[in-house]
Parts: sequence; C-alpha cells; structure tokens
Amino acid sequence: KEPFRAPDGVTPMMAQYLEIKAANADSLLFYRMGDFYEMFFEDASVASRALGIALTKRGKHLGEDIPMCGVPVHAADDYLQKLIALGHRVAVCEQTEDPAEAKKRGAKAVVRRDVVRLVTPGTLTEESLLDARAHNFLTALFREPQSEGAEPRLALASIDISTGELIAATCKLADIPGELARIRPGEVLIGEDLASDAEIRARIGEAGAALTPCPRAHFDSARGERALKERLGVAALDAFGDFSRAELAALAGLLTYVELTQVGRMPLLRPPRRESADRLMLIDAATRANLELVRSNQGTRAGSLLAAVDRTVTAAGARELASRLSSPLTDVALVSARLDAVGYLADEPPLRQDLRDALKAAPDLARSLARLAFGRGTPRDLGAVGAAIGAAHALAARLISAGDTLGLPRELMGIAERLAQAPADVATSLSAALVEELPVNARDGGFVQAGYDVSLDELRALRDGSRKVIAGLQATYAEVTGIKSLKVRHNNVLGYFVEVTALHAPTLTAPPHAETFIHRQTMANAVRFSTTELSDLESKITSAADRALALELEIFARLTSEVLAAERQLSAASAALAELDHYAGLAELAVELRYVRPRVDDSAVFAIEEGRHPMVEQTLRREQAGDFIGNDCRLCGGDGDRNGAPSALVVTGPNMGGKSTFLRQNALIVVLAQAGAFVPAKSAHIGLVDRLFSRVGAADDLARGRSTFMVEMVETAAILNQATPRSFVVLDEIGRGTATFDGLSIAWAALEYLHEVNRSRVLFATHYHELTALADRLPHAANATVEVKEWREEIVFLYRVKMGAADRSYGIHVAKLAGLPAPVLKRAGAVLAELEKADGRPKPTDLAGDLPLFQAAAAQAAESTPSRLEEALREFHPDAMTPKEAIEALYRLRALL
Ligand code: ADP
Repeated sequence: KEPFRAPDGVTPMMAQYLEIKAANADSLLFYRMGDFYEMFFEDASVASRALGIALTKRGKHLGEDIPMCGVPVHAADDYLQKLIALGHRVAVCEQTEDPAEAKKRGAKAVVRRDVVRLVTPGTLTEESLLDARAHNFLTALFREPQSEGAEPRLALASIDISTGELIAATCKLADIPGELARIRPGEVLIGEDLASDAEIRARIGEAGAALTPCPRAHFDSARGERALKERLGVAALDAFGDFSRAELAALAGLLTYVELTQVGRMPLLRPPRRESADRLMLIDAATRANLELVRSNQGTRAGSLLAAVDRTVTAAGARELASRLSSPLTDVALVSARLDAVGYLADEPPLRQDLRDALKAAPDLARSLARLAFGRGTPRDLGAVGAAIGAAHALAARLISAGDTLGLPRELMGIAERLAQAPADVATSLSAALVEELPVNARDGGFVQAGYDVSLDELRALRDGSRKVIAGLQATYAEVTGIKSLKVRHNNVLGYFVEVTALHAPTLTAPPHAETFIHRQTMANAVRFSTTELSDLESKITSAADRALALELEIFARLTSEVLAAERQLSAASAALAELDHYAGLAELAVELRYVRPRVDDSAVFAIEEGRHPMVEQTLRREQAGDFIGNDCRLCGGDGDRNGAPSALVVTGPNMGGKSTFLRQNALIVVLAQAGAFVPAKSAHIGLVDRLFSRVGAADDLARGRSTFMVEMVETAAILNQATPRSFVVLDEIGRGTATFDGLSIAWAALEYLHEVNRSRVLFATHYHELTALADRLPHAANATVEVKEWREEIVFLYRVKMGAADRSYGIHVAKLAGLPAPVLKRAGAVLAELEKADGRPKPTDLAGDLPLFQAAAAQAAESTPSRLEEALREFHPDAMTPKEAIEALYRLRALL
C-alpha cells in the first residue's frame, strides 16, 4: 500500500486524523481528544444523525468548515451500543502517550494516537453492549472445494468472544439460512471471493446478519490450524474433532478477523467443538421463525418458546438453554442422557431447590473470564471468578452427596466432576486479596484488602496519615489566626487550600501571617490561600496515592494471570454451571407445568396424549382465560409399524377453532423432546425426527406485501424436495395466497406427494373442505377437525381435535357470531346448500334466480332510518371480495356493534 500523505496545508493534528481515518475507512472513527471521542467530516454527520447529537464545526480543512460531533468518554458505551445496533463499525482511537510527553517533542507536536480496537457487532465483550442471556456469535464461512456436479457445501466457524466458545460445522449451501438462523450470529465474515457470489449473498441475507467481506488471504487453513494449536497448546487438533480443510480455513478467517479488530489481542479460546450436521435436527430458517423458537414474530424474546420454558436463574444457564433449543439432537443416547438429568432433578425437589439457590449466587464466570483474558477485566470480574469457584464447589458437594444415596445420572456426574475441579487455590488467593464491595474500575484502586500487602498498607497509611494531619491543620490555623470560620478545603485546580471569608482576608495578607499564607484566588465572598505546609503534605499524599494505585494495579495483573493460568478448569466449570442451571430449570418447569418425559426412540412413531401448546397455555393462564384443552395426536411415517396411525392428518374446521395451535404444539413438542426437555403432554412417544418443517400459508403474510404466492411455492418446493420418511411436516393453510382453484390444486398435489413420496409425518390444516375427500382416498391419510358446539344460538369453540371431517356449516355460524343480519345469514345458508349440491363448483345461474330475496329486507331497511351497521353493509360488494377481504369486512361490521 502507498503510505498515506495528507494534503499540504493541514494542521499536524488533522494530518494524523486523516492518516488514521484512511487506514480505517470502513469504520466510524472515535478520535480521542481529552475527555471526548470526536468524529469529523462524513463520520460526524453519520454519527450525529444516528445518535441524535449536535453537529458542530471545528476549524477549517482546505478552506471548508470541518463538521464535528463528539461523545463523552464516560458515556461512550451507550453510544457505541446504538451505533453497533444500527449496523455501524467503530474504530476506537486512543491517545497512546501522555500529552506532557508530546510537549517535550516541541510545542506543536501532536499526541500519539492509535486505534486500539474495532468494535463490530460480532466482537463485543462489554457487559453494557451485550445481552447477558444471549450468545453473541461471529461466524466465518468458507466454501468447500467442490467436485463436479456435487452440491456446494460451506464450512462455518463461529466464536462468541464474550465467552470463548468456538464451534465449527459444515453444511450444504441450501441449508445456510437455517444454520445461520440457528447460530444467530451478530456478524458474518466471508472471503471477498464469496462476497461476489450473488447466491451466497442472498442466502446469508435471509438470515439478516451484518455481512463483512474479508481478504481471501485470511482464510488460510494451514494458518488456522497453526494458530489454534498454538493457542490451545496442543500438538494436534484431533482430540477436539475431525476438522476439514474448509473448516480450518473458516477458523483461520475468524481468528484473523478477531486479531485485527482487537488489534493484536486474542480472546479466550475454549477448545473448538465440531458440530456434525447429522447429529442435529435440521430446521430451516422459515420453520424457526414460524415456530418462534427463540424469537417471537415480533422479534422479541418474550412470546418465544425459549421465554416460555426458561426457568433458569443465571444468564449462562439461559444462554445454554437457547443454544440447546436452537439445536435439537438426532441421537437417541444423547437425548436420553439429557432427559435422565432433567428427570432426576424433577424427582428431587429439595436437591433442585438447593442447587437453584446456590446457582443464583453464581456470577457469569464465562463472560468475566473472557474479559480478563482480553485485558478488559475489572476488579468485579476477579471477584466474580472467586465467587463462582465457591459456588462451583458448593454445588459439586451437594450433587455428590445426593449421588451417594441415589446415584447420579451420567450428565450430572460429569457436571459434578467439572465443578469439583474448579481451582480452590485461585479462589483462596482472590478472597485473600479483594475487598467485599469491589469498584467497577481497576484504575480507581481501592479493591485490595488491608493486610494483604505490607507495602500497600504502608503507602495507604502515609496517604491517610497526611490527610489526617491536614484535617488537624484547620484547627491549628484557626487558632493561630484567630479566625474561627477558617476552613481547609480541596479542589482539583488548587489542591488543598485555606479559605476565609472576604471579611477575614486582610488578617492573612498582613503580617505576621502574610509569610505563611500565599494568596491564590479571590472569589465573590471568599478568599483562598495556600501554605508550604499544605503543599508538602499534598505532594506526599499524591505520591503515596500514586504509588499505592500502581501497586494495586500490579496486584490486579498478578491475580489476573493467576486466574488465566487456571483457565482450562475455569472454562470447564463455567460450562458445567450453565448446564446444571439449564437442567434444573427444565426440571422446575416440568414440575410447575406438569411436563412429562417423552419416550424418544428410532421408530417413526409420533404419539402424543393430551399435548399442549407451551406458549398458548401460558398466555391463557396469565390472562386467566380458561384452561388449555390438551389434544392427542397419532402419526406414523415411512414404513413404520403404524398400528392404525395415519402418516398425514388433514385438519379442517372453523377459523379460530384451534387448528394452528394444534399443528404448532406438536412441532414444538418435537423440538423440546429432542433438545432433551420434558414436554407439555400427558404422555409422548416420538421417533427421532431428522428434519422439521413448519409453514403457514401466505395469506397471513399479506401485510408484508411480498409476492406471497411465489414465496409460498418456493417454500413448499423446498419441503417436497427435502422431507424424508423421518421428517415431520406442518403445513398450515398452504395455497391460500392465490385464486381458489389454483390454491386448492396445489394443496391437493402437495399433500399427495408428501403422502406417496416423502412419506413423512404430516399435519395439514386447510380451509379447502374438498381436501377431506382426499384424506378418505389416501390409505395413510385421515381427517381431523376442531370441535365446536352450538349453544343458545352461539357457537362455542371446544378446542378439541377429533377424528373426522368438519361440518362445513360452521363458517356461517361464525358469521352469525360476528353480527351479520339475519337475511344475509339465511341467504348464505341457501348459497351453501346450492354449492354443496354442485359438489363444490359454484353455478351462478342456479343461484341468480333467488336474487329478489334481499329486496324485502332492503325495502324494510329503507323505511326506517338505516343503522350504521346497515349503511356499512350496503357498501359491500361480495362478488368483488376475496375471502380475505370478506373476513376483514366481517370484523369491521362486528366493530360497529
Ligand atoms: P385457527 O388456526 O383454527 O384459526 P388458532 O389455533 O389460531 O385457530 O386458535 C385461536 C385461539 O383459540 C388461540 O389463540 C387460543 O387462544 C385459543 N385456543 C386454541 N387452541 C386451544 C386449546 N387447545 N385450548 C384452549 N384454547 C385454545
């Protein structure tokens, strides 16, 4: 690269600014000036708009005003957070020398500055910038060399630098959106070669993460391997997994980027984990969104499955739960081991209570450890490590004593072992050194206990002794001068000084006192003096305080390295704490809401007794809106021993009857079971699901105004191309996004294909009543409907799913419920009868004959003044309405009541 040259005639500071900015062109530059980070030029206008702060000017550059804005250093985190959330990157440029040093080089010399880190969405470590209960991953992608005709595959490497977690995996290009939706990275890195590939960009774009293109050279597999081995202090990586060249290249890209953004500092790295795709249930991005696994449709945690089942008491436990719900397993043994742990804790209330109480006191060890490793640790992080070790030992002891009498399941045994290995000696030295109430910043000092270090105690005594002497001086001076109101005070400008009222000032400026008291400042009604005695004491205090602080910082560094030397055991203990909390939380949930242990095996069965929807159930409870009605569901896919169970269930019934709820609850039960959690049901038997699909018809999507039919067809195609006899497919009102007969035919054909070719377990809700006939025709398809009852002319939803087709007159009952006038309902009944006679095919000619039907009603209406309802009704042109518009019209009418 050409060395940067500032244009002629700019000030030395501006030249420095421009040079640093040129090296960080893609980031906003936070340029440190005293107590502020300043931004200039384009950065200033971008940041002032983004942050809502004032845009000002500072000097001129090439004859033009320089736009400027700034944020105070002490509040910088808040502003950083806003900028990062908006997708900006920020280069933080600090003064790297004391301004006094610069002065020595000449009056005009500029203080040296350097970028000390780049803040990007995927590389945050600050507590204030992170969500404690969520992981923040940075993910790098690398394309596998592709053999002729093979499906393209990509390697993914992800790191959460706030905890050191490192994961590698490989998946097909087509599965990338699902993988990214699972990992939810804050930022995605790709080589410039991939960045120019439109398809890859589009796939990543679906995940909505910030995309950062990096030089292709960063993705060097040999370098990645070397860097990892070096960092982990091992000769070979085999022990951690069988990493492909492409995965190592992705890891290299990842680590290089971290090194660059952190300007040489490397985060804590836990041993890398290889996630093999064949051990995880594949769930695509649309299904994740549709089932609201970790985020609701509103994009919030609240309302998601995660929020509904989270009973953890620590942030690390919540992160563990989120990871596991996002990545259900496809291995019976692993799932069973997890279920054993939940079951054990569910059956032992006193043990569970003790564990949860102890966990509440355990700080976020993983994040404190990561900050300490990064050189961004605080005294509180040290305190957290100590407290976490204490908690780990207490928990290990409690688990082991329980195990003595009852025998622990394997998972809990492993947790107890890792907890017990938390280094007690580190905890001892931390508690010996640190005070109870720790300050936020090491640079403020005051975190080392008295009695821990002799020299520190001496310096503090010197400092405090001098302070006492000063306090004593006030009395002495008052006595000597005879001014009772004389005060000794301190401020940052004058240091210690004597203050008297203006009235008494002449006493001090006249002999004999004039020799002792040196005039410094005259205020409105006070005059200030200094004395040599005060100055001497002051410099004693300052130098003692400075030396004490330096010593404290030394102790801080020593304790930090002691902690980091035990990093392996501490990381293991922190993972164990998170796992334990998550198990205890799931057990708590199971007891609280009567969830049961699912039987998970290699069959193709799906048999749920009285299953419930985790989110809807809790909403009903919260709003005291009645009990959730549990529903059975029996399916069997492929060539399984079906024992009469269908492979596909066609669910019909009136709107609002509970169809969607039923469909989704079964998909959610699959996710919970294979993530190793208990499930909301009376009993559950689930043959492992390899892929889960869930789609809602595009009509629900109209608000977003996309080409909904196209989207729906693309997604349906993806299911038909990918679902296997082990898959579980939920289709809710597919085919709605188009004219009736197109939609019906597509829904029909899709169902046939799923039944004949994919042979997956399928739940299919539809308003196309015609599909009930199809279920009768296909050998392994059956009809089900949501039950409703008529009661005093109203219809009542029973939310009970029963076998058999729906009675199709309920649509009209719903209309009655909505307050449609009687003539309309009567007419609708007649039309319906005609339609049914015509076997689903409307014959307008048959119906036209009855047209005068409304005339009587119209005449009647015209006589009396029409009501608002009647007026509104008159505006309607049913022939011009789509079904969707018709239902909306009904709601409008209802609102007029
Ligand atoms: P549909 O898909 O048939 O239009 P939904 O599944 O959206 O109906 O259900 C509508 C509402 O009915 C839900 O929001 C919920 O409040 C209630 N509901 C659904 N299923 C049940 C159930 N099993 N028990 C109690 N209430 C239910």
